[in-house]
Amino acid sequence: MNRIIIFTLLGCLLWTGCENAMSSNPSVDTTPQKPKNIILMVGDGMGVSQITAGLYTNNNQLNLERFPYIGLHKSYAYDDLVTDSAAGATAFSCGIKTYNGAIGVDKDTIPVETILERAEKEGLATGLVSTSTITHATPASFICHNKIRKQHEENAADFIKTDIDLFVGGGKNYFDLREDDRNISMELKKKGYNVSDFFQEETNDLVMDPSAPLAFFTANTDPLAAQDGRDYLAGISGKSVAFLAERGKEKGFFLMIEGSQIDWGGHANQSDWIVAEMHDFDKAIGQVLDFAEKDGETLVIVTADHETGGYAINKGSTMDSLETAFTTDYHTADLIPVFAYGPGAEDFSGIYENTAIHAKMMELFGFGAKNESE
Ligand code: MG
Ligand code: ZN
Repeated sequence: MNRIIIFTLLGCLLWTGCENAMSSNPSVDTTPQKPKNIILMVGDGMGVSQITAGLYTNNNQLNLERFPYIGLHKSYAYDDLVTDSAAGATAFSCGIKTYNGAIGVDKDTIPVETILERAEKEGLATGLVSTSTITHATPASFICHNKIRKQHEENAADFIKTDIDLFVGGGKNYFDLREDDRNISMELKKKGYNVSDFFQEETNDLVMDPSAPLAFFTANTDPLAAQDGRDYLAGISGKSVAFLAERGKEKGFFLMIEGSQIDWGGHANQSDWIVAEMHDFDKAIGQVLDFAEKDGETLVIVTADHETGGYAINKGSTMDSLETAFTTDYHTADLIPVFAYGPGAEDFSGIYENTAIHAKMMELFGFGAKNESE
């Protein structure tokens, strides 16, 4: 008798399960295989230990857990097994292994077209959002071409050469207070940009008007660390996605969002800095995923350029209190996780070169992968 009841219950459960699967099938079938929009999110210096620390100190929960596909990339540079952020980002932006310090140029210092520049040519809307200066290696590698990474003023001058729709980050001084007396902010205004320089407190009140391209400065030099009160990344990420969806409503958009300072916490060997930046970056990931879930045509990729610090969580740790250690104040050669959600996300499972992330994005955009070096 009991058995009959159990089997009947089991049958009902199975039937309900099947019905749910069947009723959700039509929506799966209509999901486009190719994305209209791609959002690449880079947590600079974010290795598995950084993610682990962020997860356990956030009540054992991160938005990163919402991604259905996860892979690993090989982060090494052309000239060094341990990459820097310039070569690491140039692998994503241009699809080439290059030397450490190279911004959008190949191993012979020849400029290579970036995915952002190509997207602009193809009529897509484009954007860069960062919690460092916008001229720093990671964002710069998507729009600048420079043989040496730390030339911030030269990098700033490259922003006027591409019709980027939106950029948000620090480093206003590199545009306005320059040794060559050019005022790139004025040049951007003349080109039709809205240029805003609301700092810190006001950023969440900022209205992004999609009728004109926008340059939005969050600091004169480096933005603050999250633990010192910087709090714009999640809000600005949500607004940037809405802004670009409007400007790219016909052909789509490409957006790179960087959580820049996970790396800085690693260089400083400060676990609290890393954890605060991880929580900040993960909130931004949540905003972007909320958009992508509703939109259905947006591919979201989250990865890092490299791990920083040789960061480890040791015996004696609890979820609330981590016992951490570092092996270096520089980067390491670890394989780096890649998380993907949306049309084309399944292409990102497996183990592959960092340059393959570029190739996959180019193919999914239908641009072809002509820069692929592998
Ligand atoms: Mg960076
Ligand atoms: Zn670094």
